[in-house]
Amino acid sequence: MTSGGHTTVIKRVLERRVHEPATPEDTTATVAVMLRVLPPPHALLAIHADATRAQLELRIHKEMLNVVCCAEHEAIKRLREQFRPLVITDSLTLIRGIRAEHLPREPFILYITPLEAPEAIETGLRTGADDCLPRHASEPQLTARLGTARRIAELEEVLRITLIENREISTTDELTQVASRRFFSKHFPREIERAGRYRRPLSLILCDIDFFKHINDTLGHAGGDAILKQFGIRLQECLRSGVDWVARLGGEEFAVILPETAYDQALDAARRLRASIADRPFPAQGKMVEVTASFGMCNLEQVPVGERKTADHMLRVADAALYRSKYGGRNRVTAALLPMNSVRGTPDSLHKFLTP
Ligand code: GH3
Ligand code: MG
Ligand code: MG
Repeated sequence: MTSGGHTTVIKRVLERRVHEPATPEDTTATVAVMLRVLPPPHALLAIHADATRAQLELRIHKEMLNVVCCAEHEAIKRLREQFRPLVITDSLTLIRGIRAEHLPREPFILYITPLEAPEAIETGLRTGADDCLPRHASEPQLTARLGTARRIAELEEVLRITLIENREISTTDELTQVASRRFFSKHFPREIERAGRYRRPLSLILCDIDFFKHINDTLGHAGGDAILKQFGIRLQECLRSGVDWVARLGGEEFAVILPETAYDQALDAARRLRASIADRPFPAQGKMVEVTASFGMCNLEQVPVGERKTADHMLRVADAALYRSKYGGRNRVTAALLPMNSVRGTPDSLHKFLTP
């Protein structure tokens, strides 16, 4: 399986489940499939005693754990560079060091004790190990303990992938509380269908925060997130509640859908949105931050019936308009009017840009 392939399989399994009511048996089967497709977890082996290290290297199979050996003094640096869910070590100093580090994720630590004495095990657990195993443990003991550690690492990984995937599956964007990209992909074509049925116009505005990378660089990611949250709220405040809707398409890009809205009204809305962002600074990280965004609007005077490519076409035209706003200097609106017969043509040749 290619790198990341297991994540794709898990995503597919989860996707399928969204549409089906889950029974307890389904859930068990899903977890089993997810566990089966995961590659062996990564483990860091930092063993001081040469003989113990050689012995462990020999006894840990690569189908069970993907082990990397390193010197004790390198272990924390290695963990910071690339997280490994399992650490096997005979060093109490290292265990103490890892726990004091407060890594974003805590690894499972298996302490290899020099003696079988209960005191050695208690010391290991008190220092921060999750489990202890005497150096001279038998083969079945080692296999069982590594199996437990592996299972914990795998279950945590499955849980992480599931949470990330659930966020995508969800219809609401968790950070900004506007509609998710997934919701947009499903409901924007429905808006088009509806507009076609009633022979109504439809407008789409795409917007992208200007120089957002710089905002993140100066305020930190949390500051950037605080801006994104307020950005979604500001957009919604300017719109007709219960009719127009906002979706976060990704990162700092949003879509605004304006049903039954003709060109002039949509242009007014886009201008209002632009001003509502640029005219009032955003509070974040104890500062007031000036934020601007660029807008690309696309209006379809009359939506054609039964044309499956309309959503894609409108998106491409709105995106081209947004691109113009960016390269025209940002903090501006570019609008494109799509005549009805243009939808079947190529977006670059048939729409006309009207830069207000
Ligand atoms: P432009 O004016 O051309 O749009 O420039 P830009 O800096 O806004 O665009 P660019 O695509 O270079 O950078 C977008 C940044 O948005 C990079 C990425 O790290 C950040 N970003 C994406 N999603 C999130 C998020 O959920 N939270 C935060 N804080 N930042 C995010
Ligand atoms: Mg941007
Ligand atoms: Mg962007």
